[in-house]
Amino acid sequence: MVAVVADETQPVDDPDNPAEQCFWHGYEPTRPGDYRACGECLHVWRTRDAYVASVHQLCREMRWPEVDELDMCPLCSHDW
Ligand SMILES: [Zn+2]
Ligand SMILES: [Zn+2]
Repeated sequence: MVAVVADETQPVDDPDNPAEQCFWHGYEPTRPGDYRACGECLHVWRTRDAYVASVHQLCREMRWPEVDELDMCPLCSHDW
């Protein structure tokens, strides 16, 4: 039994496509209008707010001054 936590608004048409497998969350297809996607871990931020929230969380964890933008993926540290 594998628990799959999926955004139920996501169309699930090709869950085996490795090009759309987020390293952290599994099947995560890009869609028109997505704010940003990481080319390394393949995570997709649907909105700028979601991206900024990820950056803020990393800043808290790393005890960095809070910023809204980073030159790297806040999840896997891959340079943009
Ligand atoms: Zn990444
Ligand atoms: Zn993800």
